[in-house]
Amino acid sequence: MTNSAWWKTSLGMRFVPTICPYCGTGCGLYLKVEGNRVLGVAPSLRNPVSKGRLCVKGWNAHSPIGHPDRLTTPLVRRNGALRQATWEDAIGLIADALRSAASTHGPNAVGVFSSARCTNEENYLAQKLARAGLGTNNVDHCARTCHSPTVAGLSISFGSGAMTNSIDDLADSPCIFAIGCNAPEAHPLVAWRVRTAKDRGATLIVADPRRTELARWSDLHLQLYPGTDIALLNGLMHAVVTESLHRREFIEQRTEGFDEMWQVVRQYPPGKAAAITGVPEAQIVAAARLMGRADRVATIYTLGITEHTVGTHNVMSVANLAMTLGSVGKPGAGVNPLRGQNNVQGACDMGALPNVLPGYQQVTDGTVRAKFEQAWGVSLASEPGLTLTDMLIQARAGNLKALYIIGEDPMMSDPNQEHVRQALESLDFLACQEIFLNETCRLADVVLPAGSFAEKDGTFTNTERRVQLLHRAVASPGEARPDWQIICALGEALGLPMPYSGPAQVMDEMASLSPIYGGISHSRLVPDGLQWPCPDASHPGTPILHTERFTRGLGKFMAIEHEPPAETPDPEYPLILSTGRMLFHYNVGTMTRRTPVLHREHPRNFVEISPADARRLGIRPNGKAKVTTRRGALTVEARVTEDIKEGVIWMPFHFAETPTNALTNDAFCPISRTGEYKACAASVEPA
Ligand code: SF4
Repeated sequence: MTNSAWWKTSLGMRFVPTICPYCGTGCGLYLKVEGNRVLGVAPSLRNPVSKGRLCVKGWNAHSPIGHPDRLTTPLVRRNGALRQATWEDAIGLIADALRSAASTHGPNAVGVFSSARCTNEENYLAQKLARAGLGTNNVDHCARTCHSPTVAGLSISFGSGAMTNSIDDLADSPCIFAIGCNAPEAHPLVAWRVRTAKDRGATLIVADPRRTELARWSDLHLQLYPGTDIALLNGLMHAVVTESLHRREFIEQRTEGFDEMWQVVRQYPPGKAAAITGVPEAQIVAAARLMGRADRVATIYTLGITEHTVGTHNVMSVANLAMTLGSVGKPGAGVNPLRGQNNVQGACDMGALPNVLPGYQQVTDGTVRAKFEQAWGVSLASEPGLTLTDMLIQARAGNLKALYIIGEDPMMSDPNQEHVRQALESLDFLACQEIFLNETCRLADVVLPAGSFAEKDGTFTNTERRVQLLHRAVASPGEARPDWQIICALGEALGLPMPYSGPAQVMDEMASLSPIYGGISHSRLVPDGLQWPCPDASHPGTPILHTERFTRGLGKFMAIEHEPPAETPDPEYPLILSTGRMLFHYNVGTMTRRTPVLHREHPRNFVEISPADARRLGIRPNGKAKVTTRRGALTVEARVTEDIKEGVIWMPFHFAETPTNALTNDAFCPISRTGEYKACAASVEPA
């Protein structure tokens, strides 16, 4: 499969099939390659996810590949500045620093951030390096900043922390409930399925503090205050049950804990839910009736649900509603978290998490550990490691000494930037592996130049659990190398044999150890990929989970009370700041801001504010506004819009020169350790 060109023009241009490197939808595309240059992108008609379509980011995915800012040589800090170095020196320095920190302070004084941007095979190798090469379970990745509450919450409720249904399935749903989800901007090709369902007559209900494009398509927009999702969900369940619209048979036969849950939910009549959420009582009742009377309801959600101090409770509350409606385990139904990054699902599946080995097998399970110990030839730590959140806390406290970060920029992506800076500056040693010199690399002792998605073979797993192949289209620039090769070189330098011939062999090893991937190999992934669980080589994959029984047996209702965000408005900070993503940019902007077509649409940061708040505070449309929270202040352009609820302001987080995460709150969910990006107290004044 290496360097496969599915077809070639008569003039020699190759069309290399691969997967979009941006969101977790996992659209298929061809890279148009001439020589060693990627000239453009064409959509893949054959791909089962995107079916010949791409969003604007996918159409421009080639742009950053050959960008002149690409890192092309290893860099090592000497006399305070990052200077060019050889691979041998750079790898040797990292291996020495990690080994020395582990031997002096114990293995848990080192940590690895793996990457949702990297392939499954690379994530498998990264967690193996941490566990077998360094002796620590301190390995995590950016799912901690987004969908860890999903993994934790749905595991408790259903026994599996993944999207229950398939993307295509949404188009056939008679009723879609989107909560905390801006699919037309964050997951455009999923939004296409929602639009298709709507055009086929489906009902669409949207719960969001902003009047997004999705809310404009909806039959009913529940414009709640950020951080009040549980009150809304409890109010909806109250109305469903009191109007006898719940599915008794499903609840009795397939679930447990309904009565305990009802003892809490009965305390949230729609009037009380309305008082907490700011959504009119009549709208809550109307939404409950629409959902309760629908044959099936498909729920979709993203970070509006998860990025809260109650993120895991929010997820379990979403699961409660779906089970109350009997809408799990059927086509056109289910609980569908839309994963943010191209391979955040896969990074979780591969065990780039501190508590589980590949395939969600607990590190605390002696039988599981023995299996991996035999395969890897080492003894493994039996206690869960530190999460990404806790690694930063322990670095600031001086207990974590050395950190190896692959394809991640916590300086931009994690909440409360000043705390992140203090943590990274407290380390004895920081190594980063990246395609561009990002804000975190600027603090590093060693920076390694990595290959982009176009320069490697391997697989990504999209949000619907579909494992898909990507193919190496061009060589990396200069001395840059694919991440899997770098991790193997570092493993060997640490004394861990990693003599893999390529990613296909890595996948085979992982599949032999992970039952949910047991039947997956590169050769089986052409042309449509496979959706896990896929336990053996003849299994066709699983488009819908929990059809006969939940993964845990019975679905578990959880009794969940509303709790406010860690910060609520007060006289000094009278507004709620929420944050999110835009269509034209992706996460911390490393790639999209180096894509001229995308950058010109939104070249700088801004704050959305309601006309009523703007008038009261003297903020002029398109004028400058200073946004202040307890962590800092930023001056950005003010966008005065009816689309945002009075009392709420909203900012994107893609702009390094005005980093919104300098303002956000690093209070976190105690179960999943995910920060509260979606709600903190703020003030705004003219600047
Ligand atoms: Fe890429 Fe997501 Fe757009 Fe598809 S929807 S083209 S995966 S960014």
